[in-house]
Amino acid sequence: MNRTNADAKIAQSAVGKVYLVGAGPGDPDLLTVKAQRLISRAAVILNDDLVPPAILALASPNAEVSSVGKRAGTKGPAQAEINERMIDAARRGLDVVRLKGGDPGIFGRLAEEIDALEAAGIPFEIVPGITAGLAAAASLGVSLTDRRTAARVIVVTNHQAHSSAPPKAADWRGLIRDDSTLVIYMPGHDFRGLRVQLLAASCPPDLPAAIVSCASTPGERYRFTTVGELNKLPRLDSPAVLLIGRSLDRAQSRSASEAFLAFDEAELILSSLEA
Ligand code: SAH
Repeated sequence: MNRTNADAKIAQSAVGKVYLVGAGPGDPDLLTVKAQRLISRAAVILNDDLVPPAILALASPNAEVSSVGKRAGTKGPAQAEINERMIDAARRGLDVVRLKGGDPGIFGRLAEEIDALEAAGIPFEIVPGITAGLAAAASLGVSLTDRRTAARVIVVTNHQAHSSAPPKAADWRGLIRDDSTLVIYMPGHDFRGLRVQLLAASCPPDLPAAIVSCASTPGERYRFTTVGELNKLPRLDSPAVLLIGRSLDRAQSRSASEAFLAFDEAELILSSLEA
């Protein structure tokens, strides 16, 4: 082997690998074992804002951990800069964990990062994570598919950042079906407007809907409603997902009877105090 070949070989083996890792919906117990292992060993971690401190605390004390998140309304580094940082670190021979909330392939700009890594000749691996919609369904106690009511699950965003334009009434028409569960990421806060669009798309007003905020975290909150009453939903904290479909029916009636029980119990306590 001549000197130039040998140098090239060293340079090649010195390139680090980039792991595009899903951090799950927030609860550190919902990380995969693989994600946990990679986080604890990575030299460089580039995380989104959605990744909570309890998960970042799993990083090695020697790791370089940087938040490169871009949440709605906050200014983070541009996508090109994130790509550059991953590539630079890998070229320095460091293994990088690019940590994203949920699953990296669901509204995570994963495709753009893969393209950049491929163009730079950097080896990479994708490690899936539990996406927010799945965590939200678990919190509500519902099955997203149901042989009786929901033959398909449709994952969609109401936010412009992930498509050239969010769905309009005409687009919702193709998405709203009586036999589907719709999982809407980044639903925004304008439920009044969304209600108008959904109804204009011939969505039945009695179709059950539920909003789940901060699924799987201590701040988790949810509310059941129907499409016709979406405008009455309170404003819950971000991040939140909106679920729509008949598969929510049972959980909705279960939750209503739980609320009723809780109310009965409160009355009982009150009357015993009064006695
Ligand atoms: N890759 C992520 C989604 C990123 S887009 C995933 O697979 O979950 C960001 C959106 O995800 C938020 O606006 C919100 O709609 C949703 N989201 C993320 N974490 C959430 C959580 N813990 N609870 C509810 N929604 C969440």
